Amino acid sequence: MLSIVPLILGPAATNAYLIAEAESGEAAVIDPAWNGGLILAEAKKRGWHVGQLWITHAHFDHIGGAGDLARGLDPSPIIALHPSDRLLWDTQGGAAHFGYTLAPVPAPGLDLAHGMRLQLGGLQFEVRHAPGHTPGLCVFYCAQAEVCFSGDLIFQHSVGRTDLPGGDWEQLVESIRKQIFTLPEETTLLPGHGSETSVGEEKRDNPFVRAC
Ligand SMILES: [Zn+2]
Ligand SMILES: [Zn+2]
Repeated sequence: MLSIVPLILGPAATNAYLIAEAESGEAAVIDPAWNGGLILAEAKKRGWHVGQLWITHAHFDHIGGAGDLARGLDPSPIIALHPSDRLLWDTQGGAAHFGYTLAPVPAPGLDLAHGMRLQLGGLQFEVRHAPGHTPGLCVFYCAQAEVCFSGDLIFQHSVGRTDLPGGDWEQLVESIRKQIFTLPEETTLLPGHGSETSVGEEKRDNPFVRAC
C-alpha cells in the first residue's frame, strides 16, 4: 500500500510528497521543496527510510530542501532528475532570480527517461516525460495506487506557467493531452501546488486545456 504525506513548504507553498510503501517503510520524497530537516523528521517519526528523491522538475521551490535532506541521510539518497533539467539544477533552479540562495545539493545520480519504471518496495511508478513548464519535467504515475504526481504541469483547474526560461506553451498543452489525459479518469492528480484533483475532473473542467 502506498502512504502519502503531503507537506506544503517554502516561499511558493510547494507541495512536497513524502511517500512510502507502508509494509516495508521504504520511502521516497517527490520534490523536497524546502525545509529538508522537517521532511526528514516526518519520515523518522513514522519509522520510514528515505532512499530516493524523485524530482518532477528543477525549479528552486521544488529542490530547496534537497541539500539538507540528503545530508541527513546515510547512505546518501539516489537523486533522480531528467537530464533536460540538469542545467536548471546546476543553477539552483533560478533561486537567485527570486532572491534566494539554496544550500548546496549533491548532483543527481539517476537520469530519468520517459517510460522508465521507478521502484518503491513492491510499488512501481511509471516516468512520463512531460515538457512545457520546464524542458525536463516528468510526472510519476503509480497504476497500483491510481495516483499521478504531476509537478507543475497541471493544477486543479489550472496549468503550469510557461513564461520562465525553457517554458513552452505548445509543449505544455501537448504534454497534458498525451501524458495526463490518457490516464484512467479516476486517477488522482497530486500537483506541485494547490489541491489534489483527478484526470476526469480536469478533462471536464480545466479551462486552459480541452480534452479532444
Ligand atoms: Zn515549477
Ligand atoms: Zn512550483
